[in-house]
This record gives sequence, C-alpha cells and structure tokens, in this order.
Amino acid sequence: MILDKIDQLIIEIGNLSAKNAEEIESLRLKYLGKKGEITNLMADFRNVAPEDKKTVGIKINELKQLAIQKINELKDNADTGNDTLNDIDLTRSAYPIQLGARHPLTITRNKIIDIFQRMGFSIAEGPEIDDDLHVFTKLNFAADHPARDMQDTFFIETNKEDVTKNIILRSHTSNDQSRVMEHQQPPIRVICPGRVYRNEAISARAHCFFHQIEGLYIDKNVSFTDLKQVLLTFAKELFGNDTRIRLRPSYFPFTEPSAEMDISCHICGGKGCGFCKHTGWVEILGCGMVDPNVLEACNIDSKVYSGYAFGLGVERITNLKYQVADLRMFSENDVRFLNEFESAN
Ligand SMILES: [Zn+2]
Repeated sequence: MILDKIDQLIIEIGNLSAKNAEEIESLRLKYLGKKGEITNLMADFRNVAPEDKKTVGIKINELKQLAIQKINELKDNADTGNDTLNDIDLTRSAYPIQLGARHPLTITRNKIIDIFQRMGFSIAEGPEIDDDLHVFTKLNFAADHPARDMQDTFFIETNKEDVTKNIILRSHTSNDQSRVMEHQQPPIRVICPGRVYRNEAISARAHCFFHQIEGLYIDKNVSFTDLKQVLLTFAKELFGNDTRIRLRPSYFPFTEPSAEMDISCHICGGKGCGFCKHTGWVEILGCGMVDPNVLEACNIDSKVYSGYAFGLGVERITNLKYQVADLRMFSENDVRFLNEFESAN
C-alpha cells in the first residue's frame, strides 16, 4: 500500500511545473511542508511491518530527495525566466515607425467644422441612441412620417403606449439641435457633427450608417438672406472662390421654407461634364428656415425668434472632393485606400 503511494508520488513530482514563485512555494508546501504528503508518509512509516521497514525507509528517502531536487530545479528555471533583460536585443537596429494618415471623412469633417467655427459656430454633440421625442417629435415630424417606420429607422426599444418614448438609432444629428434648444435660449449658433443610421441595403451608393454635419442659427431677425450668405461663404471656402450656389425649393418637416442647395460643378466649372451629369450643378446639402412649430416644441418663442438650419452628408462632400466611387470603401479599413489621403491633410 505505502509503496504504491510512494511510486505514485514519484511520478507526480517528476511531472511538476510552475509559472512563478508563488506556485513553486505552494508546491513545496504540498509535498515538503509540515502537513505535506511526504511528512504524512513518514508518520505512516511506524505502521509498516518490521520486515518491510528497510525497503520503505529507503524509498521514502529517495522520494524526499527527488522532491527537494525538483523544487530547486523549478526555482532555477523561474529565476532565468523572469530575467527579461535577456530578451532585449541591443544589437538590433532601430526601425522607422510609420505614421498613419487621417481618415478621409475626418479630413472633410475637420475642414467643414473649421469653416463654420471661423463664422462663429460652436460644436454641439449628442447621443447616437436617442428617443423619438428628440429625433422626430420635437422636430415636427408627422405621426405617420415614413422616417418613423421600421423600414427606415433602427429601433432599439419600442413603447406601445407612447411612441415618443421609442428608443432608436438617430437617423440624423438633428436630435443634437433639439437638445441644444431645450437647454439654451437664443442666440444659438451651433454645428452638430456625428454619425447617423438608416435602415438601408449596403451598396456602392448607400450605407446603413454615415456622417452628418447639421447647423442651427437662432436669433432675433434671422432671415433667409443670412442663410444664403453663410452657405455661399461655406461653398467658396470648401470648393474654391469661383464656386456659385443655387437653391431649389424642397420640403423638410423641420424647416419652412426649405431648399436643396447645389454648387456649380467644381470639375467642369459649370460647363457640364459626366460628373455633374451635364447639368453644371452638383447637389450638396439641404437647408431652410426653422419651422415655428420646432421652436415652440423646444420652448423658444417663435414670435420673437427665427432661425435657419442646414444639414449635409460628410461622405457626400468627401466624394465630391476626392471622387471616391464606392461608399463602402470608407468603412472597410483598407490601408491602401487610406494611405492615399496621407498628403491630403
Ligand atoms: Zn461638371
């Protein structure tokens, strides 16, 4: 019996391994400590029959020597293993650390923000996950507006009793604007850059997420002329001093009147080419005067204050500036594509 136990321990100890000093110490206690396996065997020794005592005694002694030797061996290995200085190769030459490039969307976003900041706009940011109240209701979206449909918008949580409590991925950064108006009385002059989400099939021309920058200006006596002049300045700053703009009537729930803005094609200068589909114009943003219903919903007196708002897609502007054919390239993280923008900023 006791000889079987000794043989078993010999195999066990022969296979011991440990990662660090703590583990080695716990192994030492397990086998050689005061209540350890080998000490217990020595206690059992007195029950061994007299004629077997000699054999068993020698075996126990061998086992003890083996355990001491194994523990010392583990300690030696751990000492060299911990010596990380041995891993540093001081003869290796220094290698150049390659600098990355800014993402094209970041380049465009920074340029746009810079232009508006110089005109006195400050940045306002808000949550990408927001409630219906801030994304749609306060912005004068009709209860049956298609944007409120699951076909168009990603829902996180629906509330059967009160749709304004639905939690959604915002489909535009206008929720930042309703949050600013909620907490700040005019004058308000902000731009809201951020990521937005729409339930679209992903293709070269559409994606389920993209980036927007919206602007909002509310004060006394703000007119459509102010809007037009700010956007003209923006277009000239971004696309060059020769750029002309035109406004076409349009419709948005949160502005009245509303317009789409085109710029003269920066490729052909307005003469007409393949890029502008031979019209000489390229659409770049939507804009309009803030609907009084929006101001009232956000506790701003629409009889005292008026304002304008505009919104543009960062991907769209980046495409116009750099002619990126496929929208998906912006989110594929292909370094060959990204490296092309190294000199752009
Ligand atoms: Zn053109």
